[in-house]
Amino acid sequence: MNSGTSNTPLSGSRDNPDQDQFLTILSREDALARFEAALFPREVPREQGALADVLGCALAEDVVAPIDVPPFDRSNVDGFAVRSADLASAGEAAMVRLKLNDEVIACGVAPTRPVLSGTATPIATGGPVPRGADAIVMVEHTQPAGRQAIEIRRSASPGQFVSYAGSDIARGEALLRAGTVIGSREIGMLAACGIAQVSVARRPIVAVISTGDELVQPGAPLAPAAIYDTNGAIVTAAITENGGEARFLGAIPDDEAQLEAAMRAALANSDMLVLSGGTSKGAGDVSYRLIGRLGKPGVIAHGVALKPGKPLCLAVCDGKPVVILPGFPTSAMFTFHDMIVPVLRRMAGLPPRTDATVSARLPVRIASELGRTEFVMVSLVEGSDGLIAYPSGKGSGAITSFAQADGFLRIDALADQMPAGAQAEVTLFTPHVRVPDLVIIGSHCTGLDLITAPLGRAGLSVRSIAVGSLGGLAAAKRGECDLAPIHLFNEETETYNAPYLTEGLELVPGWRRMQGIVFRHGDPRFEARSAVEAVRAALADPACIMVNRNQGAGTRILIDRLLGDARPDGYWNQPRSHNAVAAAVAQHRADWGMTIAPVAHASNLGFIPFAEEHYDFALVKARKQRSAVQAFLDAIASEEGRAALARAGFRPA
Ligand code: AMP
Ligand code: MG
Repeated sequence: MNSGTSNTPLSGSRDNPDQDQFLTILSREDALARFEAALFPREVPREQGALADVLGCALAEDVVAPIDVPPFDRSNVDGFAVRSADLASAGEAAMVRLKLNDEVIACGVAPTRPVLSGTATPIATGGPVPRGADAIVMVEHTQPAGRQAIEIRRSASPGQFVSYAGSDIARGEALLRAGTVIGSREIGMLAACGIAQVSVARRPIVAVISTGDELVQPGAPLAPAAIYDTNGAIVTAAITENGGEARFLGAIPDDEAQLEAAMRAALANSDMLVLSGGTSKGAGDVSYRLIGRLGKPGVIAHGVALKPGKPLCLAVCDGKPVVILPGFPTSAMFTFHDMIVPVLRRMAGLPPRTDATVSARLPVRIASELGRTEFVMVSLVEGSDGLIAYPSGKGSGAITSFAQADGFLRIDALADQMPAGAQAEVTLFTPHVRVPDLVIIGSHCTGLDLITAPLGRAGLSVRSIAVGSLGGLAAAKRGECDLAPIHLFNEETETYNAPYLTEGLELVPGWRRMQGIVFRHGDPRFEARSAVEAVRAALADPACIMVNRNQGAGTRILIDRLLGDARPDGYWNQPRSHNAVAAAVAQHRADWGMTIAPVAHASNLGFIPFAEEHYDFALVKARKQRSAVQAFLDAIASEEGRAALARAGFRPA
C-alpha cells in the first residue's frame, strides 16, 4: 500500500463496524494511487497471437523486419525498363529508338534477360527491374516502332519509377516497438514482412457479475418491481473496449452464500473481477462484505469522493483486482472509466486512454458538492462564439443521458460550483464533436418525436435538450438553439406563449395537448365528474393521495389553479414528467394527478379533460433560413405530420 497517502475520514458515525470502510471516504486521487500501488509493478503476461487475433493488443516485444520490402527493385508503372544513359539525348526534336528484348516482365515473373545498351524490356507495375536497367519509361511516353522496337522523345532520370529493394522497409530495421497498440496499419506492416504471429500482451480475463434480486436479463420478461440488468452489458462492452477479455457471468441475487460461491469461481478463472451493485449500506448489500474472505489484502478503498460513484469499492485479493461498482448504471460507467480503465489498460499493456477534449462555455451555473470530484454529462451545441455545453438534467440513475450526451466535464473536489459563462474542458465520448443540424431546447413532448422522425430519415441530425419551457426560452433568446418548444400560460392575457416572445423570436404554432385529471378506472371519486368536482371529492377524502408536478411546469400552474390553498397528501410528491404522474397513479402510489391525454390513455387510465394547453415553438429568426429549420417547418405543416399527431391524441394547431 502507498504509505504516503492518508486515509482521511470525511464523515460518519461508527454505529456498525461492518460499515467502517464505507464511512472512510478517500479522495479520487488517493483511492487510485492506493489501488495502483497494491497492483503494480507486475509482469504483463504475454502470448503468441495470429495476426487475425491481435487487433487492439499491445506488442510485447520489438519486431525487427526479417526481409526487405519490396524484396527487389520494382517498377512503379506499366512501361519499359531502360538504361537512362541511352535516353540522354532524347527530346521533342530528337527521337531515340530502342530495340525490344524478347521477354515481358509481368508481376511475379523473374527477368531472365539483361537490358543491354540500346534495348528495353516491357515491364508491368510491380515487376522486378531486370539486370542492366536503371529506369522505367511509362508506356504513355513511347511509340511502337514495328513489333520489335519503341521510340521515345523524352529523357529519363536514373531511378525514375523504380522502388528500390528495402526502400519501404529495410531488413533489420525496427519495424514496430514493444508497447505499440496494434491497429490495421500495424497488421499491414507485419503482413508485408511475412510475419504471421507476434508476441503480444495477453488480454486480461475479466469476470463480470451483476448483483441484485431485482435484476432481469434483457430479453426476459420484466416482473413487477424488477429492472433490466444494464451494468452487465455496459461493463462487458467497456472491458472489451479497453483491452480486456470480458466474461459475463450473469446477475446473482443478494444472497451471501450464492454470491460468495460465484465470486470464488469467477476469481479462480480470471485475472480480475468486476461486480456491480450491493456496495452501499442498504439492507441487501452484501458483496463488499465478502471481499475480505477472498484473499489478501482485501478492501483498499470503499467510498470514494466521486459524484456520481461514492460507494465504489476497490479491492485486491491475492494480487487480483476486485472491484464493486455502484449499482446505478451511470455511476457504474463513470467510476469504471475513471478508476478501473487505467488499471485494466496497464494490465493489458496498453497506454492510458487519450480521449479528445474541447472547450465549451456553460450557459447555466452548475452547483457541485464540495469535497467530491463531480462528473457532469453535457450536450454540445454551437453558439454565436463557440461551443456551449448543456448539462444533462437527469439524475445519477439515468442511462439515456449517456446516449444523448456528447461528453462530460469534471468539477474539481474543491469547487462548490461552476458559474454560468465559465469555459469548461469537455471530454468527448466520440473522437470529434458532432454538431447537430437542428437544435431544439425547451419542454419535451412525445409529439415532438413524431415531427422530427422524417428529418432523421432524411439524414439530418436532431438534438433535443429537455430543460423546460423557461429554460428553452432563455436559450432561444441567447441564440443557442433553432427552436424552443414552450407551453407557458400568461395569466394577464389568458393566452399561451405569444406574450413571452421577444425581439428576434417568432412563434411557430405547434399543437394542443389536453391536460386533465388521471385516475384509475372505476374510482367513484372521479368517474363521471368534471375536473373541478373530482378535485373537490378528492380533497374531501383524507385517504385520497395526489401526485403533483414540479414547480415551473406548465401543468403545475393548472394544478395550482384547481387546488387553491389546499395541500392534500401527496402534494410534495413532485415528479418532472407526464409519464411519472401516470405511473404513480397506475401503480397505486397516488390516486390522481394531472397529465396529458395521450399519456393517460397509453397507461390505460381514466381521464377528465380540464384545459387545452398550447405547445408551440419559439423560432430564432436568425436561424430560420437554415435547411434543417426549413425541413422542420415543412414537417410540422405536412399532412403526414398532422396525421401522426392526431393519431397520438394531439390536436395540430
Ligand atoms: P445497489 O448499489 O445494489 O443498492 O444499487 C443501487 C441502484 O442501482 C438500485 O436502484 C439498483 O436497482 C440499481 N442497479 C444495481 N445493479 C444494477 C444493474 N446491473 N443494472 C441496472 N441497475 C442496477
Ligand atoms: Mg442491489
